[in-house]
Amino acid sequence: MRSPPLSSQFIDAISNHTHMEPGRVEVLFGPMRSGKSQRLAQYISWLEQYARETNYLAFRPAEDTRDTAGYIASNDENTTVPCYMISGEEPEQAFEYVTPDTTFVVFDEAEMFSRFKLFSVAATLKACGYHGIYSGLDLDYRGEQWGPIIDISHWLVEGDGRHHLLARCDYQENGERCGRPAPRTQRLRNGEPEEYHAEQMIVEGSQENIAYYPVCSIHHHINNAPREPDLARAPPWPDEVEQIYGELRNLSLPELDTLGSEDLQRFQQTIAQIQ
Ligand SMILES: [Zn+2]
Repeated sequence: MRSPPLSSQFIDAISNHTHMEPGRVEVLFGPMRSGKSQRLAQYISWLEQYARETNYLAFRPAEDTRDTAGYIASNDENTTVPCYMISGEEPEQAFEYVTPDTTFVVFDEAEMFSRFKLFSVAATLKACGYHGIYSGLDLDYRGEQWGPIIDISHWLVEGDGRHHLLARCDYQENGERCGRPAPRTQRLRNGEPEEYHAEQMIVEGSQENIAYYPVCSIHHHINNAPREPDLARAPPWPDEVEQIYGELRNLSLPELDTLGSEDLQRFQQTIAQIQ
């Protein structure tokens, strides 16, 4: 994995700021209508008021055309947080805004940013001691990983930094709403479950025949879903990560249980080689 190019302002910021340890990384994720933006806006204002983390930067992908550009707004619109709109393909643009005074950096709609680039940005910001908060969907309409949230959660978040929000299942039968906790997002096309091989990103409201709602795993439907996950569709990870995953994938549960500290050290060394 190549590191994103660093702007001279960001390099100055790194050399001048006084953080002495890696920054805290938090992820806030869940399906559509699980209240992510609302929680994010409230959390930012809480950090400002009570944790005195006042110099934050917030970013949203310019590709998100749904609501007011330049703001992260909760659904009730009571809390709005100003943010910069940057290209989803170039999340490293965020470094141009970081100063020595920056306390935390927020990325909303993380799934619309380039997966490995935002992951690299998150790793860089963490290493440089900045508090990073990444909010978005973890799964696409198929229920498969979308964007960098799961990578960031697995590799960069420690302790209590994972905030998994659930919605309530909106599936209805005979006028009754299911109401179970809903970790997934159903996509309908012309009122029917979407085909497996459709576009991953269709912004809500951009096409009249597309609708979304949160569902439990029982009521999540996709047309023509393969029995086995289509691994060829997944973008390649950097070699070192492939190596670790390849090894872990082939271990049975009892074997996983016996992994010792030497194994862990070996994994750690491999991870350390990732550029
Ligand atoms: Zn349900």
